[in-house]
Parts: sequence; C-alpha cells; structure tokens
Amino acid sequence: MTARLLDGRPVASHMWRDLSSRVAALAETGAAPPRLAIIIFERGGSSAVYAGGIARAARSVGVEPFEVEPPDGVSLPDLAARIGALNRDPSVAGIVIAQPVAAHLELPRVVELIDPAKDVDGATPLNAGRQARAEAAFVPATALAVMRLLHHYEVPIAGRRAVVVGRSPVVGRPTAELLLSAHASVMLTHRRTRNLARETRRAEILVVAAGSPNLIRAEMVNRSAVVVDCGINVTEQGIVGDVDFEAVRPVVSAISPVPGGVGPVTTMCLIEQTVRSAEALHARAEQDESLGRFAHRSISLE
Ligand code: NAD
Repeated sequence: MTARLLDGRPVASHMWRDLSSRVAALAETGAAPPRLAIIIFERGGSSAVYAGGIARAARSVGVEPFEVEPPDGVSLPDLAARIGALNRDPSVAGIVIAQPVAAHLELPRVVELIDPAKDVDGATPLNAGRQARAEAAFVPATALAVMRLLHHYEVPIAGRRAVVVGRSPVVGRPTAELLLSAHASVMLTHRRTRNLARETRRAEILVVAAGSPNLIRAEMVNRSAVVVDCGINVTEQGIVGDVDFEAVRPVVSAISPVPGGVGPVTTMCLIEQTVRSAEALHARAEQDESLGRFAHRSISLE
C-alpha cells in the first residue's frame, strides 16, 4: 500500500483564500494595506530566496512587503534605532529577519530588537517563552505549518506518540511544543540521541527537521506512521528532504513530499501571523479612536 500524500499546496491555497478575504475585510474599513518588513543583510543567496518567497506570498493576499537593508557594518545601536522605528510605525504589522545576519552581529541580539507584537515568525524570546507555557504567541512559521498540515489532513494528534528529529529553536523544538500543546506524547531527538532508529520506529507521528538528506530510511519507521518532512537540502538531484521518500512512502500510512509539503504552508503561516497582527493593530486603533471620541465628549460636557 502506498502512503497518503500530505500535499502542502491545497493547504496553502485554502489559507490563501482565507487570508485574502481577511485582508479585504480590513481594506473595507478604510485601513491601509498591512505592511511586512523584511530585514535583509546580504543581497543574493539564501536571504534573497527567502525574502523573495515571502514577498510574493504577502503581495498575493494584499499585504505590502518591503525590504530594509541596513548599511554594511551597521552597529547594534544603529540597528536598534532602525528596528525601533518599524516597531513604532502603525502601518507595519510584521517584522522578519532574513538569515544570515551580518557576521559582526549576533542573531539573538538582533532578534530581541523586534517588538514581540510584530514578531510574526515567532523568533523573540518572549514569544518562545509564551509558546513554551502554551500561551497565545506568535510561533516559528515552520512549526505552525507542520500543525496546519496535520490538521488539514485530519491526522489525530491527542494521545499519539510523536517523535521529532531535530531540536533547533526554529523548527524542531517549537514543533515539539505545539504537538505537546495538542496533547501528543512527544519525544524530541537530536544528534546526541542514542539509537535514533529505535525512537523513530515508535513514532505514530514522525516530524523530521535535521537538515540531513535520506536520514530517515524505511527500516526506521513503522507502518502506521504519519511522516512530516521539514528538511530542505540542495543536492545534485535537486531539493530533497530528510526522509528517503521513495523507500519510506510504501511502508508508512502518510508522508509529506519535498518540495511541495511543509514549504508552501510555511510561507502562508508567516503571512497568516502578519494578518493576525494587522487585525490586532487595527482593533487597537479603533479602540483608541473611540476612547479619544469619548474623552473629547466628556471634556466638552464639562
Ligand atoms: P539546524 O541545523 O539548526 O538543526 C538541526 C537539528 O537536527 C539539530 O538539533 C541536530 O541535533 C539534529 N540533527 C542533525 N543531524 C541529525 C542526525 N543525524 N540524527 C539526529 N538528529 C540530527 O537546522 P534547522 O534550522 O532546524 O533546519 C532543519 C531542516 O529544516 C533543514 O533542512 C532546513 O533547511 C529545513 N527548514 C525548513 C523550513 C521549511 O519551511 N520547510 C524552514 C526552516 C528550516
């Protein structure tokens, strides 16, 4: 039997329709289109691919992306002033950093400059902490994409044994936390895990985010497993995931392809969080306006 394919494209299309109508609803109130700032330190390479993909997806739903390119050698205080201006600008709903950051800067120090309310890729320590406590937070888009994919294909999560391979703060760890919040029993594995195959074979839901092509082979999975592959590896054969797709697909119950699985959903998740931020900003502005009107009326009654 061949596994069900967890195709990310219909999930992304479904999200696109929902987000387009939410942005249109904001526009109907007379609000300007929400803006998404992409901070980019190096022209070309993976940064440009990342920024380009996000910008296209943003534009497609009516969000206005723009790139902010700090000058070479920018100091942390100078960067803080630039990001601070974006934090205060009510037209900016989201701020993301296209990695890598400039070599003389440390990523955690750069990320901390973003207002957590505009941190639409869930990168700041405050959002990570909130997520770890299962509170409402912006979360890393790839982790959210894994959950959207599982929900779309109605994969039961509560009570299931989930194994996540990879513990990075961007993918593995936040995915494990979201699965835990959805009531799975979660095992988080990594490079130092002894006997990885013994752990992955126990998984009913197996999420792989290791950055290692063909890491997961047929003998490492069980027949009932739902496998979600987050890996993006550029090889001579093209882009492949972390799972040996051809060998694993015949021996599991469902599997996501690479490309076309988690990837397209990830981009939409980032835009979804941007739209959520825009809606919150809009609601706050309306509230401030009505409070202002109320204050004005009470003053004029005196
Ligand atoms: P990372 O290098 O920061 O982390 C890799 C993790 O995998 C580490 O915790 C490491 O311990 C673990 N690991 C590596 N090799 C292992 C092995 N042989 N056995 C067990 N554990 C192992 O990478 P990352 O940023 O988390 O990215 C992981 C993968 O996901 C990469 O291929 C990356 O390109 C991809 N990615 C995809 C998306 C997306 O939208 N689909 C987004 C971000 C990253």
